[in-house]
Amino acid sequence: MRLGAAEVRWTGRADGDMREAPGLTWTRLHQVHGARVVVVDAPGARNGEDADAAVTAVRGAKLVILTADCAPVALSSPEGVVGAVHAGWRGLAAGVVGAAVAEMRRLGAGDVVAALGPCIHAECYEFADVADHFPPEVHGRTAAGRPALDVPAAVRHALAEAGVELVHDEGVCTACSPDHFSHRARGDVERQAMVVWIP
Ligand SMILES: [Zn+2]
Repeated sequence: MRLGAAEVRWTGRADGDMREAPGLTWTRLHQVHGARVVVVDAPGARNGEDADAAVTAVRGAKLVILTADCAPVALSSPEGVVGAVHAGWRGLAAGVVGAAVAEMRRLGAGDVVAALGPCIHAECYEFADVADHFPPEVHGRTAAGRPALDVPAAVRHALAEAGVELVHDEGVCTACSPDHFSHRARGDVERQAMVVWIP
């Protein structure tokens, strides 16, 4: 899909395990559930670094996030600065979304918009101590009525705090969807990808 200056793709199960995709020049981070952001200054730069978000203003530099329940978030600004964020609960609690937006603004981004890919939804994400880590606005309930983290709500909340509007949500729960990998629901070790770039 087109998200302002960015082109965004989300893969699914049918596309295979994106950990194994060979021979591509891209920046695929070694995701560590933190809030570190890398600035990519050439296609393929910073590949494999320990970080959970990448931003770039370089045309054609592909930013790749791998997920199997965590939220892949694409960011774009009309100034031609784009970003890709891996937002699991630890990263959200650590502020990875706001850190990525701040780094984009340092590169000249003004109005930033966001898109959310397939991720686990509250009905499938029991999180007993959610109140220890997150504000009430992002607490949810599982299908069985247990405390849950509402990951899409947590992403929206973090974006709003950074002054960013979520303009697109794929609306897919990875745990419910047979077309996506889910670590929690099925113990999948494979990963789907989000790819963000300036075409
Ligand atoms: Zn679900």
